[in-house]
Amino acid sequence: MAYIPAPKTAALTPYDPIDGDYRIRLDANESFLLPTAAERQAMADAAFGQALNRYPDPLARGLCAAFAAYYGVRPETVTAGNGSDELISVIMSAFLQKGERVLTLAPDFSMYRFYTSIAETPCVTLEKTAALLPDVDAILAEIPRQNIRMVIFSNPCNPTSLGLPASEVRRLIDGTDALVVLDEAYMDFWDQTLLGEAADYDNLIILRTCSKAVGLAALRAGFAVANERLTGILRAAKSPYNVNAVTQAMARVVLSDAAACRARRDRLVAARDELMGGLKALEGAGALTRVYDSRTNFAFARMDGARRVFGALKDAGIIVRCFGDEYLRITAGAPEENAALLDMLGKILHNRQG
Ligand code: PMP
Repeated sequence: MAYIPAPKTAALTPYDPIDGDYRIRLDANESFLLPTAAERQAMADAAFGQALNRYPDPLARGLCAAFAAYYGVRPETVTAGNGSDELISVIMSAFLQKGERVLTLAPDFSMYRFYTSIAETPCVTLEKTAALLPDVDAILAEIPRQNIRMVIFSNPCNPTSLGLPASEVRRLIDGTDALVVLDEAYMDFWDQTLLGEAADYDNLIILRTCSKAVGLAALRAGFAVANERLTGILRAAKSPYNVNAVTQAMARVVLSDAAACRARRDRLVAARDELMGGLKALEGAGALTRVYDSRTNFAFARMDGARRVFGALKDAGIIVRCFGDEYLRITAGAPEENAALLDMLGKILHNRQG
């Protein structure tokens, strides 16, 4: 007798994006700000007080309440996850009957498609416009044509860094009976959120995360915000103790200090603007043909021979993300990291290096 794994597992490989030690890491859209020593002490104290011999609160009520207070939503509309990645996976498995179809956009966050393949859910991918924006009319036309039950996309978008105005997102949600999963992982950096109206729709789930502006990627805390009916389904479908007690306690401490959260966000936005300014100054230099307007904490740039530029940066100890041979995505880092990146990129583009 021999066990043969399911064919859908054949192409799976563990997610392991970093394959080396780099001096400067601008590849994962994380925050470059570590919580201050005082903040870390408060977090450690909160973790210390946890009953580690007991299971955590399955609904992470304290954490959800802190999230709800900071973002001005009702706690009854919030579900916590082990990162928003986990929530994407739960949504794919809980909200679709076998064979029901999902619509994703391209380019967009690659994990959407990955989770549809694990869930054996047919996934239709619609190309964005030439300007790399979602085309709401095209999406609304495609939904009935392809019998789509769920649309998922990020706004602002990873990797393009571009944002779709709230009015356009509303037009999409209002125009369909499909479930719209709106991934606002980067919306702390822009002002077009639909969080305040999430519970007014019967077909909307908004995803948020503590991994970007809040600066807690290591803790794995993500949230879904939706009306109480959809929230009830999410809470029932997730695994019971999906967010561990240490994460609940620590992330709660951080989210409870609204002024500190806003100040951190402002520093990340300032770093982004600095990076964007430097990149814009290089636009048109050699291979760098376009820098897109960023609504996130990273920049997205089009260049000829992106792989060569990526490799030259990597050789200099600076890691960014490369998309095909056409685009680079660069996370805004600390001021000295941005300066080092811009300096090296300038040299590479002017062919003095790499
Ligand atoms: N959505 C988008 C658009 C992202 O870029 C990311 C992280 N790269 C995630 C979701 C996942 O975030 P988390 O760390 O909360 O799982």
